[in-house]
Amino acid sequence: MYGLMDYYKFDVRLTEKDVSSTGWNCLSRTTSTYSSSLVNEILQEAHRLARAEAVCRAVPVVKTTGREIFLEGGQALTSSLLVRLAGTARSLLLVVCTLGHMIDRRVEEYNRKGLAAHAYFLDIAGTCLIEAAGRQLVEKIKTQLEACGFKSTIPLGPGHSYWKSLQDQRIIYDLVNPAKIGVTILKSGIMLPKKSVSMVMGIGRELPPSAENHCYYCSIRRKCPLSRARDPL
Ligand code: SF4
Repeated sequence: MYGLMDYYKFDVRLTEKDVSSTGWNCLSRTTSTYSSSLVNEILQEAHRLARAEAVCRAVPVVKTTGREIFLEGGQALTSSLLVRLAGTARSLLLVVCTLGHMIDRRVEEYNRKGLAAHAYFLDIAGTCLIEAAGRQLVEKIKTQLEACGFKSTIPLGPGHSYWKSLQDQRIIYDLVNPAKIGVTILKSGIMLPKKSVSMVMGIGRELPPSAENHCYYCSIRRKCPLSRARDPL
């Protein structure tokens, strides 16, 4: 539907822009020379271990209220920001993207061996990489949608301050079924592997304007090391 695929596999790399606009740059600058070379070594390791895969499903929108969007099949997603940006969408595109288990396992291994700095840097590198994977995938999806004459909203997701209900994570999980790329979900709504994200984008012909990314709508954007909000809204 909409010229999109339901499965994506791709190589993910942190670009210079990714590095300079996230906590990774800060980390490199504030560490000693010894740690700085370790940080770079670990970033290369994260690139080698990451296996970016994603599954997607476009679900038609049936009805919108002030704080919910109802989907075909009866499920509702409960973010008022989603309603504001995607309330006029024809469909919501639900996406789950993961880097696989290898980074999680290596972090555990470093911890078992008492290499706390290695574990810490690899965990942060994995977080930066899954964020970058999400951005790269969204660019690909936007290009495919535009080729079919459709627009899309910025991606939003449960678990950020603007979308508190982690129960919605379960709804997205059940609709997308990312078990086929090895992603499971806990009762709390947290997905495993840890370096996995869910994203929801509205698809339509006419959509309202929005900020460049979801960090502009997040209440912790000034403190979050991964924030991509350059200025307050
Ligand atoms: S600023 Fe908020 S939305 Fe952006 S990365 Fe941080 S927690 Fe997520």
